[in-house]
This record gives sequence, C-alpha cells and structure tokens, in this order.
Amino acid sequence: MTSIAANLQAVRARIAAACLAAGRSAESVQLLAVSKTWPAASVREAAAAGQRAFGENYVQEAADKAAELAGLNLEWHFIGPLQSNKTRPVAEGFAWVHSVDRLKIAERLAAQRTAALPLLNVCLQVNVSGEASKSGCTPEQGVGLAAAIGALPSLRLRGLMTIPEPTADIARQRRQFALLRHTLERINTELDFRLDTLSMGMSDDLEAAIMEGATIVRVGTAIFGQRDTTT
Ligand SMILES: *Cc1c(COP(=O)(O)O)cnc(C)c1O
Repeated sequence: MTSIAANLQAVRARIAAACLAAGRSAESVQLLAVSKTWPAASVREAAAAGQRAFGENYVQEAADKAAELAGLNLEWHFIGPLQSNKTRPVAEGFAWVHSVDRLKIAERLAAQRTAALPLLNVCLQVNVSGEASKSGCTPEQGVGLAAAIGALPSLRLRGLMTIPEPTADIARQRRQFALLRHTLERINTELDFRLDTLSMGMSDDLEAAIMEGATIVRVGTAIFGQRDTTT
C-alpha cells in the first residue's frame, strides 16, 4: 500500500470513530481530500485508493491537475479565497465552491456558470472566530446573504463553510463549529430553506467538527503529508 493509501485509510477510520462517538452514521460525513500544492501524481494515488472528491485553493494549479486527470471522473471543489476577476474558471471547472463570502462573487459565479453544466454547488463561508484576518461573512450576515444567494440562477446553495481559529483546546474548537451549525439552523428556520451542508473540520480538528455536525471534512496534511509552503 502507498503511504497516501494508508493515510486515507487512517483518516477514514478517524471519521468512522468520530461518527460512532457522535451517534451518527459514517455515511453522513463526506471526506474532501485537499490536494493543494501536491502534484497530479499524488491525486492519482488517492484516486486509486478510492478517493473521488478533491479540494483545491488555486485556480491555475487546479485547472492543470484537472486537465491531466480528466479521465478519472473526479469531483473538484474550490476552497480557496476567490477574487472577483478569477471567478470564470471556477464557475466553469468546479462542481463545488466552498468559499463564497460575498454577494458579488456569487453573482459572478451564477452569471458565468455554463447552462450545459449542472448547478454549481456553493457554500457561504462564515468567519466564526471574529479574527479580522479571516475571510468569511459574520454569522449575523448569514441569513441575509443566504437569502440573496439562494435566489440566484445556476447555483445551488448547499450550506456553510468555516475555517476556525486553530486551537488545541477541544472545547474551543467545538464552540466555533457549533456557531456555524447554529447559523445554518437559523438560516433554515428563518428562510424555510433545507440547506444540508456544514463544511468544517481539517486534519487537526475533524473530530470536534463531526461532533458538531460536519457533513464535509476538508483534510490535506493527514492524507498527503506536510506541505512545504505556508499555504
Ligand atoms: C489547506 C486547507 C485545508 C486542509 O488543511 P489541513 O490542515 O492540511 O488538513 C482545509 N480547508 C481549507 C480551506 C484549506 O485551505
């Protein structure tokens, strides 16, 4: 077994154990393998071990890998910061965008999503830590933005995404993830929506995220190893 295959197996086991502890079915959590900075060969290895959904942060890097691996029928998720002049290749090349943090970006994605493609799945990114450096709307802005994004054509608003402030304190991890869940519940109640996605949890905090209801965990390091940049 390659180390990527072994790592994937270990991450799947962590997800299953966390689901068991949370009283949830293992199928209720989807694993998104975050392949940013890793070459197409690494993605190919993960795909050979049964992984289908991959997360990328950089448009050009993702486009190159997707082109090289076009035969593999992979599902690409954009999870990085999105500038409004870079939305077109994202609208055309991805199945999901997790990092929509303002209406202008959503409007551009909606306008640029080709009619021949399925609806583009999007998550609204929410800043749950209040750190000024983090992107994402505030929890208070969530309902209003969800209402506006939910009304756009060509997109399917699926839920919320967050990148919490890193901390080894499990209780603090859980409070940040709980805030995202509460924001989703509020959107669903106030707008009568049926949003089904909480994209939260990474290599170091996926257990806490699953305890608080994560439906997609985004895991890079634990699958592919330490990245040698600070991205
Ligand atoms: C890099 C990245 C991840 C993966 O983080 P790891 O700690 O390597 O698991 C998840 N989500 C986003 C948005 C990222 O940029």
